[in-house]
Amino acid sequence: MLMLQLHLPTLLVASTAVIGLCGLLLIFSWSQGRHERALLWTGAMMLLAALGLLLNAMRGGSFDWVPIILGNIVLLLCIAMNWSVMRVFCGRPPSYPWVCAGAACWALLCLWPTFYTSLPARVAVHTLIASLYLLAALVELWRAQGRLEVSVVPIAVLICLHLVFLLSRLFLGPSTTNHGDVQSNPLFTLVLIESMLYAVGVAFMVLSMVKERAEKQFRQAAYSDELTGVGNRRAFFEAGERLLSLCRRQRRPVALLSFDLDHFKAINDELGHQEGDRVLKAFACGVAQNLRRSDVFGRIGGEEFACLIDGSGTDALALAERIRVGFSALAPRGREQSVSIGLMEVKEGSYDLQYLLNLADKALYQAKRHGRNRVEIYQGDAGDSAGGAEVR
Ligand code: GH3
Ligand code: MG
Ligand code: MG
Repeated sequence: MLMLQLHLPTLLVASTAVIGLCGLLLIFSWSQGRHERALLWTGAMMLLAALGLLLNAMRGGSFDWVPIILGNIVLLLCIAMNWSVMRVFCGRPPSYPWVCAGAACWALLCLWPTFYTSLPARVAVHTLIASLYLLAALVELWRAQGRLEVSVVPIAVLICLHLVFLLSRLFLGPSTTNHGDVQSNPLFTLVLIESMLYAVGVAFMVLSMVKERAEKQFRQAAYSDELTGVGNRRAFFEAGERLLSLCRRQRRPVALLSFDLDHFKAINDELGHQEGDRVLKAFACGVAQNLRRSDVFGRIGGEEFACLIDGSGTDALALAERIRVGFSALAPRGREQSVSIGLMEVKEGSYDLQYLLNLADKALYQAKRHGRNRVEIYQGDAGDSAGGAEVR
């Protein structure tokens, strides 16, 4: 085997340096923003792994207790931290007693001479504890996969491979375990290389999952309205233009609804801004409940909202009436609240969304002029000049 010809001390120095450096870089990366604690845990885990490898390499001398007791305590703490990394990334706090439990078990067992002097017993217990921590990490990922914004499959596969490697050492016998003089045990090379690949793999994957999640959160924040949680003006226009061109290509009609809450200033003035905010949220939530996945809805600004409907003017009119009646019904006892709605249907032609929204707004102003709490339909076609809007 090629790996048997590798110079083991050099490999040991190289792998501890690589793992230690990755650990320091992760802690540095965490210190930049300090909001992703999974990075801190991964960095600390890697520094501990580097130390554990060094301690485990000190075999064959008169201080055998250093690798056997200390080295394995550090490595078991390290694998327990691996589980904590997954917990923290999934939004759960680390469990310190359980992190220390494996290492404490090991320390206690080492006080028992029969265990301390039996290599197969030590290998079996070490593998068992490490495997339990790896399984706990997998369970953590499996439980959280639905609510995490990123895919956990790659890191779960990596953990599974590490688990298989650990278990295979059990079945291949003591010759594949890192015992005896390191220099005279060439298969220690295999353990070293696998540990290095696993540690670097975990570091890289945690870093990329953290980065992917941060990007998604920033994107979500940039595209959603903070108060109501629905899409903001930018999200509405981007998604709306996409729906518009899809319907144009497939020659399907679309309809645009423009909403403006009636006398909203009075709600703010008489009941306070907080109540105004509550009404805005209730309206947005009520509309969202009436929409299909293909419809595009957003808060255009203030108490103005818009919705692009993947359907005909008739569908849109029925929806607008449902929203209008539903919103009025939401008013607390003894109070009135209503919304005026402008509707514009596009059967064909290529128009940009802003232009169509201007036309829907014309119908909306007409609704205001006609007494509010009503739906008005823009009667001209989109090709008419904006000034010649006809409204019924
Ligand atoms: P009309 O029936 O003609 O539409 O009258 P209005 O009072 O609704 O219209 P106007 O545009 O004068 O009032 C809009 C008000 O919406 C003014 C502004 O203070 C309020 N507003 C805008 N954004 C928010 C918000 O985020 N929260 C609250 N509470 N009020 C807001
Ligand atoms: Mg307004
Ligand atoms: Mg208003």
